[in-house]
Amino acid sequence: MRTSDHTSPERLENELELDQTLRPGQLGDFVGQRKLVENLRIFISAARQRKEPLDHVLLTGPPGLGKTTLAFIIANEMGVGIKVTSGPALEKPGDLAGILTSLHHGEVLFIDEIHRVPVKIEEYLYSAMEEFRVDIIIDSGPGAKTISLNLEPFTLVGATTRAGLLSSPLRSRFGIANRLDYYDVGQLQSIVARSASILGIDTAQDASQEIAKRSRGTPRIANRLLKRCRDFAQADQKLAQHGGIVTREVAQYSLRALEVDEHGLDEMDKRILHTIIEKYEGGPVGLNTLAVAVGEEPGTIEEVYEPYLIQEGFLKRTPRGREATDTAYSHVGAQKKTRGQERLF
Ligand code: ADP
Repeated sequence: MRTSDHTSPERLENELELDQTLRPGQLGDFVGQRKLVENLRIFISAARQRKEPLDHVLLTGPPGLGKTTLAFIIANEMGVGIKVTSGPALEKPGDLAGILTSLHHGEVLFIDEIHRVPVKIEEYLYSAMEEFRVDIIIDSGPGAKTISLNLEPFTLVGATTRAGLLSSPLRSRFGIANRLDYYDVGQLQSIVARSASILGIDTAQDASQEIAKRSRGTPRIANRLLKRCRDFAQADQKLAQHGGIVTREVAQYSLRALEVDEHGLDEMDKRILHTIIEKYEGGPVGLNTLAVAVGEEPGTIEEVYEPYLIQEGFLKRTPRGREATDTAYSHVGAQKKTRGQERLF
């Protein structure tokens, strides 16, 4: 398990309610991801005109970027109900059969962390997705019987942070597959402004920009930092003259107090950069070696952490491995070692 801190993109305990309160309900309120949103709008409108369920949708991308939100929006825009489960919650075939048989015509089944659906259950999904049917085996040995259950047509929306772990038979059964990208500062700023107005937090425009800059491209982090800034504005005596308003100064003070990195890097991001720089002299270092050194799975580094570090110019992926860039050196406050020089950090 990773250490949870203010800039962890994962949902922290007790954050479900915040996520739900701030979730946009319609495509029109969903900020950013323009191409994906425009395509979904077309597919939803076409399916509605044909009075058919939407094709199955796969959403991939790092945590906190809006996959669950989109699943709810899809159900809402299709005018149907949604049932929610997750890969690890489906332990036995009966768990899946129970939920599938409870679906009404056209409803959405959202499976979060779909890469964690156990292999023996994944096979049941194939016929469910393709033929709207599940074959359940009752008993075992010579007396075993198979019962075929017909299902109402439905839409499976699968979300995963680890697209690389999805088997190709499963992946190929999704008619619509999309990847969510990190949000830019402007988009995050609109998300913060929207959340501030829903939560009734008086927030200055330059304060929402300050929060946006330090949110690691992730709406969930932006919303969390906004709430923490409100706490400081409200209760820190040193900020009393701001009258409870989240001004830029309040935001800067709060983010400093929370030790939020100026780029919003979280603990694992920093550990990756420090390790490459300090242990491997800036790299290149192979993914597996790096993974062991930081204590994280190689696939998680590759699909969850690296994309942001590469996008922000901290890390380079080269044929010989991962390399820290000059930006990474200056960010961690280290100097590049040149031949014959002592290490200077
Ligand atoms: P994921 O399922 O990818 O981990 P969620 O859908 O749970 O992420 O989103 C986390 C939070 O971020 C939600 O509360 C939602 O309010 C907010 N959020 C995510 N994407 C957007 C967006 N595009 N516009 C506005 N808010 C968003």
